[in-house]
Amino acid sequence: MTFRCAVLGNPIAHSKSPGIHARLAARYGLDLQYDKILVPDGDFASIVQTFFASGGRGLNVTVPCKQLAAALAEVKTPYVQCAGAANTLWMENAQLHADNTDGRGLIHALTQVHHLTLAKQRIALIGAGGATRGVVLPLLESLPQQLDIFNRSVDKAQAIIAAHDSLSAVPMRAYALDAAPNTGYDLIINATSTGLSNAELPLAPALIADTQTTAVYDMVYGRETPFLRWAKRHGIAEARCFDGKSMLEAQAELSFHIWFKQEISAARHE
Ligand code: NDP
Repeated sequence: MTFRCAVLGNPIAHSKSPGIHARLAARYGLDLQYDKILVPDGDFASIVQTFFASGGRGLNVTVPCKQLAAALAEVKTPYVQCAGAANTLWMENAQLHADNTDGRGLIHALTQVHHLTLAKQRIALIGAGGATRGVVLPLLESLPQQLDIFNRSVDKAQAIIAAHDSLSAVPMRAYALDAAPNTGYDLIINATSTGLSNAELPLAPALIADTQTTAVYDMVYGRETPFLRWAKRHGIAEARCFDGKSMLEAQAELSFHIWFKQEISAARHE
């Protein structure tokens, strides 16, 4: 049997998801057709409905459709509810379900791929867009000592903190991008899109707690971003600078496990 999955977005030609899912399908011996579907303005809901009505198994959703996906779903995980955005859709009990695997993908990448500790660490998130909204809850669940958000528009960082305030005892603060923080950080995560535009971030070097131990992660992948260059310029070794490829692969694998849990479980018991 050939299963059908796809990624929806606009633009979509650059997406690396088909290759990642082809490797996952090969690992579990599944016959998978995984397409990239360009979503013209206003067509998201009808594309999703047609896809599942014709027997599609699962959809990934990327920019700019993640909020639309969350709004369309009938059943949403807490990660979707918190982020207001979804990257994974599937049908279950005749209802459209949505999850957001970005945050758990990031946690997996940081802890399992790069072997970083998050508990009791001081973590700075740079950016307050959809990517940040998707990762705040899983980061809080990792029980850091502090989780602060720096953003060009500081009101957006404040809004994200206000939305999570009642969910966690972890202290959170909002700062402007160029603010001198009260503390240095053990982990600095860039969740802005500046890696794509090559724009420099006016970050204070005081964000780096210790050049020997602080690690930096840029969610943008496949290039040395201005943020990673900034970190290296301020003394962070190459070995503690990571890009978003590990998060991309981990969030994809989590989606794959949601869509194919029965087949994967059957393959493991063969
Ligand atoms: P959004 O458009 O929602 O948010 C963009 C963020 O970048 C905002 O915080 C914005 O600040 C900031 N920003 C943009 N340009 C500048 C600039 N010139 N100077 C300072 N800040 C700037 O994007 P997303 O949050 O959805 O995505 C962010 C990035 O994360 C994307 O590049 C995406 O590719 C990547 N990503 C990677 C994933 C992975 O698996 N590796 C998963 C998800 C996202 P402001 O609020 O002030 O406008």
